[in-house]
Amino acid sequence: MNVLVINCGSSSLKFQLIDSAGEKVIAKGICERIGIEGSRLVYTPVAIGGSKTIIEEAMPDHTKAVQMVLDALCDSKIGVVKSLEEIGAVGHRLVHGGEKFAASTLITEEVIEAIKECNELAPLHNPANLIGIDACQKLMPGVPMVGVFDTAFHQSMPEKAYLYGIPYEYYKKYKIRRYGFHGTSHNYVSHKASEMIGKPYEESKIIVCHLGNGASISAVRNGKCVDTSMGLTPLEGLIMGTRCGDMDPAIIEFIAHKEGKSIDEIMEILNKKSGVLGISDGFSSDFRDIEDAYLEEDDVVGKRCLEAFSYRVAKYIGAYMVAMDGVDAICFTAGVGENSPIIRNIICDNYLQFLGIELDQELNNKRGQDLIISTNEKGPKILVIPTDEELMIARDTSALVK
Ligand code: AMP
Repeated sequence: MNVLVINCGSSSLKFQLIDSAGEKVIAKGICERIGIEGSRLVYTPVAIGGSKTIIEEAMPDHTKAVQMVLDALCDSKIGVVKSLEEIGAVGHRLVHGGEKFAASTLITEEVIEAIKECNELAPLHNPANLIGIDACQKLMPGVPMVGVFDTAFHQSMPEKAYLYGIPYEYYKKYKIRRYGFHGTSHNYVSHKASEMIGKPYEESKIIVCHLGNGASISAVRNGKCVDTSMGLTPLEGLIMGTRCGDMDPAIIEFIAHKEGKSIDEIMEILNKKSGVLGISDGFSSDFRDIEDAYLEEDDVVGKRCLEAFSYRVAKYIGAYMVAMDGVDAICFTAGVGENSPIIRNIICDNYLQFLGIELDQELNNKRGQDLIISTNEKGPKILVIPTDEELMIARDTSALVK
């Protein structure tokens, strides 16, 4: 079955058409600047070996964006299917399923209402995701749709891991707790890791380090997530591109008084001006720039940022080994995790040698493949696994639709 995977943001819509039986991408692309001047569709018909096509056309709303995607997919020159009938289902990436969704689900009217109830937990993302569902339903009536939640994989966390040390009434009244994000990636990578180390998923202890612009770590024990670093929102945990990660909450009050800023202004700083962008004193949020500075022996930017970032990752790895009473595989994924041998080296050489871990530098320098990059026979293995959230969404979608 061909599954159209949709990842809808407030002004963008990423898509992939995936043949779920062969697990192959047929076409992919992105609609950019929806509702803004200068909107365009960037489209690649992978299955027919076609090159990237850019279609510049006004997209006043997401329905127009989806229409342009469907037109491109069915086009006589650049299309990959003859008609919409060849698209069997749509899988939507949804950010927040709260406590209501512990797994992917077929989208019904009741499900849409339940997702709306989670909107206040992800006010920037969930409403945009719902707009994507609405646009697809208008243009593809009768085609089954599935919602795949970023939070679902982490719903198996025990209470001791998801509760914050604040009055319990806030959990009861507002469901304030740790939810975790990037769940589809943690799910995909942990499954792949158990295959690679040859241990049944239900019997393995895996740590997944999803290190991208947004970054999170999870502990997956016997096939279930038992802890993860992001919280009520994706602000908690690791130091990220622009997000602060863990910090003393009293800092908010301190800055508010010193700088005369409102809570909203401070939240903007913690989300958009912190992380390595903040630590580098505004130099860059992009890890490639930070790495270049590190290689040029720029102690202020490179060393400070990469060491702070890597130290935080290593601390979480340590914590999750304790949470799981050991670990079989530590996996690196996402933009930084997959592509940065330097950061993997800092983490493994500086902090994980006590486990007997040694990296094969030739393998550590390879890109774009699933690899075990550690050489030690005993002890945990270090893995690099390119994540594939779209494939995971296609898998869940076709399983539920069948
Ligand atoms: P993601 O959010 O998963 O798309 O990851 C984006 C981040 O990955 C950006 O900060 C990029 O700078 C970073 N990244 C991509 N390629 C590399 C690379 N070769 N070395 C270090 N970081 C990289």
